[in-house]
Amino acid sequence: MPQPYSLLFCHAAQVLTLAGGPPDKPLAGTDLADWRIIEHGYVACQGEAIAAVGPMSELDAGRIGPDTRIVDVSGRVLMPGLVECHTHLVFGGNRADEFQRKLQGESYLDILAAGGGILSTVRKTRAASDEELLQSALHHLEGFRRYGVTTLEAKSGYGLDAATELRLLQVAQEAGRRQPVRVVSTFLGAHVPGPEYKGRPADYLDMLLAEVLPELNPTEVPFVDIFCEEGAFSVDDSRRYLQRARELGFGLKIHAEQLHELGGCQMAAELGAISVDHCDYLSAEGAAQVAAAGQGRTVAVLLPLVPLYLRQEKYAPGRQFIEAGLPVALSTDFNPGSCPSKNLWLALQVACLKMGLTPREALAAVTLNAAWAIGQQANCGSLEPGKRADLLVLSVPDYRELPYWLGENPVAQVVIGGQLEE
Ligand SMILES: [Zn+2]
Repeated sequence: MPQPYSLLFCHAAQVLTLAGGPPDKPLAGTDLADWRIIEHGYVACQGEAIAAVGPMSELDAGRIGPDTRIVDVSGRVLMPGLVECHTHLVFGGNRADEFQRKLQGESYLDILAAGGGILSTVRKTRAASDEELLQSALHHLEGFRRYGVTTLEAKSGYGLDAATELRLLQVAQEAGRRQPVRVVSTFLGAHVPGPEYKGRPADYLDMLLAEVLPELNPTEVPFVDIFCEEGAFSVDDSRRYLQRARELGFGLKIHAEQLHELGGCQMAAELGAISVDHCDYLSAEGAAQVAAAGQGRTVAVLLPLVPLYLRQEKYAPGRQFIEAGLPVALSTDFNPGSCPSKNLWLALQVACLKMGLTPREALAAVTLNAAWAIGQQANCGSLEPGKRADLLVLSVPDYRELPYWLGENPVAQVVIGGQLEE
């Protein structure tokens, strides 16, 4: 006898399953919009996992027991929990003062010359205690959870010395243990050269390779990331660093083509990177090359709130990427400088407005493809039996309202691992 369901959501106006695509690759091309929606459906959980998903007409009443918790979600959409695949979660302080100065016309370079920008966050992060950093990370995770994020990638990168970078990774992992949102760690010590290595980026990378990477376990910190850009790290330095990281067993990520087309995305895809992030300056031809080099598995993570917040006109040409067959995901890039927002719905909306994604494509980009971008596709990103029961009850009856109510949070209830978070 199969066990009774522990938790059952029934009478949903729509169940956005995100199921039906190829099992071995992220969604690309027309597949990005071609996943299954069930009208008048249910989702049943058994313990931590999804047990069944389908139309109400196919619900097995024999699996409803006296202890089954039944939630009527009439008039509402059910969908997988959001997967936030690119954040800089752990940092000290904030830069509200700089934001005001920028709005009053000071340039980023002026602010940098006055000791501001990323280096001001590095100073505040180094000076913060573990407990202060942990409390800040927990505060932000709680904010993400309220927006429906159930799995989140967290990068280090505001320590820029060996000891602080290791501390940031430990804080992110502790934050993951203290609350229900699943945290996946990435090492981004190669964010920019540390202030002690000004003008010596290759020496800084050598220090990370000698002093930090050997201390990390790829089962706890699965990814190594680098910022490939003028003023950060060159394509050649990035290649050498990522190659070494790959030899040590890490998955690879890159921040590339944010401000210039240098070829960082292409280089990382050739090394088998799981994602290439930003891509604002990646051309359609470049996207086709990345899709080919990555064999359809390298995901372009697009961050539409960054150009918005930096008041830039150039957005990644997401529509062209999709037509070139490049899988895309969306993220906030939550960080204290270029995007202090946890609202992944707003990122989805701006992607529709500025990058040409359709609502269905954008929804796949914040769920299943975002899960692929952090190697979590076996656990989350779609509503399918056997996956972790991470799902959202939304306060709208139709998915097309999700990009429509600009800036609104549509999340009514969040379920993580079969637990209904009140
Ligand atoms: Zn970033």
